[in-house]
Amino acid sequence: MTTIPYGKQHISQQDVDEVVRCLESDFLTQGPRIPKFEDDVANYCGATHAVAVNSATSALHIACLALDVGPGDQVWTSAITFVASANAALYCGASVDFVDIDNESINMCPAQLEHKLIEAEQHGKLPKVVIPVHMCGHPCDMARIGELAERFGFKIIEDASHAVGASYGAARVGSCEHSDIAVFSFHPVKIITTGEGGMALTNNESLAEKMRLFRSHGVTREPGLLEHDENDGWYYEQLELGFNYRMTDLAAALGSSQMLCLDEFVAARRTLADRYIDQLADMPLSWPTEIESAASSYHLFVVMIDADDRRRRRDVFNQMRSRGIHVNVHYIPVYKQPYYQRFGFSKDYCPNAEQYYSRCLTLPLYPDLSIQDQDTVITALTSALGS
Ligand SMILES: *Cc1c(COP(=O)(O)O)cnc(C)c1O
Repeated sequence: MTTIPYGKQHISQQDVDEVVRCLESDFLTQGPRIPKFEDDVANYCGATHAVAVNSATSALHIACLALDVGPGDQVWTSAITFVASANAALYCGASVDFVDIDNESINMCPAQLEHKLIEAEQHGKLPKVVIPVHMCGHPCDMARIGELAERFGFKIIEDASHAVGASYGAARVGSCEHSDIAVFSFHPVKIITTGEGGMALTNNESLAEKMRLFRSHGVTREPGLLEHDENDGWYYEQLELGFNYRMTDLAAALGSSQMLCLDEFVAARRTLADRYIDQLADMPLSWPTEIESAASSYHLFVVMIDADDRRRRRDVFNQMRSRGIHVNVHYIPVYKQPYYQRFGFSKDYCPNAEQYYSRCLTLPLYPDLSIQDQDTVITALTSALGS
């Protein structure tokens, strides 16, 4: 039985050639391909600075550190996300809280965020940073979240791991028009890949400088940053406790080559998503919707199965898996994880997230998904829902 995965990278001969060319060059890491890839992504998104790292998780960590997140601080993120969005804050010693989702977009709900902020202000416990997540590649309502940031004085890190190639209004996600930092993932299931990899974008030079320091041991040779004015050629200084989160040139070579196909990848994903929407219109299903003036990169195609019967989703999931269709569930609300339960979150902390989690199912979606395979998915889903 052939299996249909839920996501899959597309690697062209040109991608292979670029990586081989890097292998044959002088630099496997810390060479010219990293700044080139950073420029490619920054220019595409319309951001001033880009810092390439070895994963989006690392990018979220150094983004929090650059914004001075530490013990005693609060960071809020969406209840429905991958655990990494929340873990980044814990790495810094801060505490995490979760904002419930909007039932239509499945993104952090701006009205609930506002409500929670008003309450937090009364208790003197406002967050230092809020991390909205562009779930499935559907951009969050960043203008509204940006207004709340001004009013309540918090910073914004966009977890745009799903949203490379998405746009919001006239700007691309990653432009940081309404945020301080935006983070991308280049894991193979995401929109473009570098194997493992991530990037943090910002329009703030000082934040970019700090993230570059944290990426590489906190060590620098930049004359402008050194505390002591030594002219010796070997001289460097460690200014922060940083990490080795560097991307390799091999990964960056693949990344720059993948960037050339980004618009094509997103267009292919959108065509397939439109086809799902068209073909599934009469089924007892709904799906996350894009807000006005936003265009999703469609990292995921999620359906929500009508009826609150948890068995139904489990049955559909099991039937499709048994037919070799690798459907998935994105995501279990983070506060339900045993690790997060120790912080005292109730098991049904966010009602909308609970509703969503009991009904959601991710269908296969990737640029190389053939129409025949998509039809196989649709037929299997139709039959599973009918039984
Ligand atoms: C994939 C993902 C991450 C982590 O990305 P890595 O590059 O694997 O570290 C973080 N947040 C979200 C929402 C993701 O989907």
